[in-house]
Amino acid sequence: MTPQPITHHIDDALLMAYSAGTLPEAFSLAIATHISMCDECRATLESFDAVGGQVMEDQSPVTMNDDAFAKTMAKVGKQSIQRPKPANDIPAVLAGYIGGALDDVEWRTLGGGIKQKIILTERDATARLLYIPAGQSAPDHGHSGMELTLVLRGAFMDEYGHYRAGDIEITDDSVEHTPIADMGEDCICLAVTEAPIRFTSIFYRALQPFFKI
Ligand code: ZN
Ligand code: ZN
Repeated sequence: MTPQPITHHIDDALLMAYSAGTLPEAFSLAIATHISMCDECRATLESFDAVGGQVMEDQSPVTMNDDAFAKTMAKVGKQSIQRPKPANDIPAVLAGYIGGALDDVEWRTLGGGIKQKIILTERDATARLLYIPAGQSAPDHGHSGMELTLVLRGAFMDEYGHYRAGDIEITDDSVEHTPIADMGEDCICLAVTEAPIRFTSIFYRALQPFFKI
């Protein structure tokens, strides 16, 4: 089966920030993972990297902290960005963070069949895997900052569109949404948030400190 084309991409501003190495580690992880799955964004990134390289060459003396840049790149495995692997597998950069395959993740139950796994990154943003059973909705919530949701397996739909494997949804403060997994396959996403998300339900809000989401 040929994979469905990716229709939801990373915007240029985020790709530029990624290219410059200025994003929190959790955001860089989501972007590196999408780029591993998406020829289009990889091509755009390469053009930004070329421009960025030129800008740095033109500056004298170079003001960038070379050490910090190298560290970030090493962390998100920018060198190892590669072509997509077969279905059910995930890009190497993400596999490195979760210590293996999606099927081996040790999930923590959030209720209603929904599960999560927090991924260890620097604390300026949070990355987690979210598991939403087929046909099930994730809790309705808003955001205090930017959220990236990258589909790794299955698909989901919300008020703004339909997202399949490889698609990334970018939301911010202005957005409240209720993602619902497609029927037929459980949905697994990589979700990255800048700040704690705001649940509309007091139940989830009460649980928030406990689950660190
Ligand atoms: Zn893309
Ligand atoms: Zn959200």
